[in-house]
Amino acid sequence: MNTVVNPNDISGVVEADRKHVWHHLSQHKQYETIDPRVFVEGRGMKLWDAKGQEFLDAVSGGVWTVNVGYGRETIANAIRDQLIKLNYWAGAGGNVPAALFAEKLLTKMPGMSRVYYSNSGSEANEKVYKMVRQIAHRHHGGKKWKILYRDRDYHGTTIGTLATSGQDQRAAQYGPYPDGFVRVPHCLEYRKQWDVENYGERAADAIEEVILREGADTIGAIVLEPVTAGGGVIVPPKGYWERVQEICKKYEILLHIDEVVCGVGRTGKWFGYQNYGIEPDFVTMAKGLASGYAAISCTVTTERVFDLFKDAPDDTMSYFRDISTFGGCTAGPAAALENMRIIEDEGLLENTVKMGERLMANLAALKEKHAVIGDIRGAGLFCGAELVADRATKEPADEKKVQAVVGDCLAQGVIIGATNRSLPGLNNTLCLSPALIATAADIDAITNAIDKALTKVFG
Ligand code: PMP
Repeated sequence: MNTVVNPNDISGVVEADRKHVWHHLSQHKQYETIDPRVFVEGRGMKLWDAKGQEFLDAVSGGVWTVNVGYGRETIANAIRDQLIKLNYWAGAGGNVPAALFAEKLLTKMPGMSRVYYSNSGSEANEKVYKMVRQIAHRHHGGKKWKILYRDRDYHGTTIGTLATSGQDQRAAQYGPYPDGFVRVPHCLEYRKQWDVENYGERAADAIEEVILREGADTIGAIVLEPVTAGGGVIVPPKGYWERVQEICKKYEILLHIDEVVCGVGRTGKWFGYQNYGIEPDFVTMAKGLASGYAAISCTVTTERVFDLFKDAPDDTMSYFRDISTFGGCTAGPAAALENMRIIEDEGLLENTVKMGERLMANLAALKEKHAVIGDIRGAGLFCGAELVADRATKEPADEKKVQAVVGDCLAQGVIIGATNRSLPGLNNTLCLSPALIATAADIDAITNAIDKALTKVFG
């Protein structure tokens, strides 16, 4: 029998959830002995669950999304006003918030000029893969169809984007995958693959080696996260991005930057790539774009790429033959427009830089105190602490203990994250991505909780 939940009395909601909801990323066997956590309300950086427990959210909605924090009435009002006026139009033709947001977004992205709307990060990335394939068909006689991706990066959950997963455990049981996606090595200096001085350049040269092995005329694009998120918060070493850009130009390979996590403020710039002076051909974004108030993603390209879909001789085949049904929902761009205004008017980029520095300083102090912290990495309010059993050998800390640290923080009322079931043997990095509104008190509360948890779990 179905459980009926009275929206004014949520006492039955945990049971309804246990019986009927299939949670993301969850082994449901656990819910035979523990209750699923059901969140009810959020304000700023705080969340409350159905049992009335309060939490400080250090991961912006679990997966680095709620950049401007919970409970934003102006975003809710912008969505409401828009939905009453016009909720939807897709296919050929546009709608008002889509046009206004595209115009606004592009003011933050010099050099970029076209915005294609869909609903999720995976979809935004798939659009690029399709564009690259179509460019290969139309302009390179079927060559330049392969796409490079990097070890430890992640680009989505569909079969196409999982074919570019640099996180083997995520992709393991869903193959076989389509051809034409080729892996390049990661660039994490802490886990060195080459013993050299200029590590950044060397790691980028590894991309060139793959290009030469495969044949430059077979490769159309490379997809990279500006700072790798779920793969362990990897901030590329000095010299890496400059060399990547050079290589892309040299071999005429389109550069696709996946800003699904870094985009819209997370690293203290509007986009992560802007920390490195990169000139991308494609930029994809989703999570923080509307902070989770509505589903929206964007695939942004240059006019040069856009023109490749205009000038081909056979007009019926030259345009991008793709649609995203819910890319026509007006709630997304209406929310994104207000989200961007909030970031501007409240100075949240500046706050992100300042609070990011504080978070890194606090983590550095924890590293002094706890030998289990092998490395700390960060860009803005996007930080990781890699835990090791032994600093000298860098042997990763036991995954169960890493999860115990996350669990202990949760018990203290602070939600943190960790790389989990994604990298074989390397699920040992604590991940922090508080909302861009975080205060010094929030940052200190987060690192104090981690301090206590590390002492409890590792002594
Ligand atoms: N790219 C990156 C870098 C991501 O972290 C994610 C989601 N975690 C995606 C793409 C996929 O986004 P979505 O879940 O919205 O499809």
